[in-house]
Amino acid sequence: MPRVETMARKALILLGPPGAGKGTQGRKLMAHLGYPSISTGDVLRAEIEKQSDLGRAARKLMEAGELVPDDLVDEIVEARLTNEDSRRGFILDGYPRTIAQAEFFEKLATREGIDTLAIGIIVDDEVLVDRLSRRWNCARCGKIYNADSNPGREPVRCDECGTPLTQRRDDRPEVVRERLQVYHQTTQPLIDFYQRRGLFLKVDGEGSVDGIFHSIVEILNGEGKNRTASK
Ligand code: AMP
Repeated sequence: MPRVETMARKALILLGPPGAGKGTQGRKLMAHLGYPSISTGDVLRAEIEKQSDLGRAARKLMEAGELVPDDLVDEIVEARLTNEDSRRGFILDGYPRTIAQAEFFEKLATREGIDTLAIGIIVDDEVLVDRLSRRWNCARCGKIYNADSNPGREPVRCDECGTPLTQRRDDRPEVVRERLQVYHQTTQPLIDFYQRRGLFLKVDGEGSVDGIFHSIVEILNGEGKNRTASK
């Protein structure tokens, strides 16, 4: 009888400070792997737009650069993962962001038989403040532009769907500094959390978008063969 290969469902966590390129790389990886990229920040911004209860609960915190409560994002992710499109695997952009979220996700992954790998995108703080002040977003399709390194063909409109580009309220330098502080205090410890479990690999996030993408793909290709490569 032919052997039937059963591939475990994969979770690829993109871990890194705001502006490290998680959203941009998540979108590229989505096209490459055929998995959805799930951004808790995008889901929350859509809820704010809809003026839902969740959006109302999240808005003030997001505008101040603070995190929204763990149970809200845990629920978003758990519900999103029941969607058929994540059956083979999925990319997480901006989740987990606290140890409590990582513990919640670890239980969920164990229960659902999900294999987790966290990839840290490492970028210096000064580069991030500068990068985020030049970031433009398409609110419709989610494409992210940078005025210097990744300008669209048509800078004021999205070159994929034609929507006028906007800047996020929380990309103002004073809010970015708060977000970076929250990152260092609350999210950076996740590197250690995943490192101790042998589930963490890192890339240098200061090169070109394509260069960083290739580094991540190389990691994913080599990962099965040599998990300890650059831990
Ligand atoms: P992002 O788009 O990932 O930069 O997230 C924007 C904002 O959404 C963050 O500054 C938080 O206020 C909120 N947010 C997104 N994901 C999470 C999360 N996993 N935990 C708590 N807050 C989050």
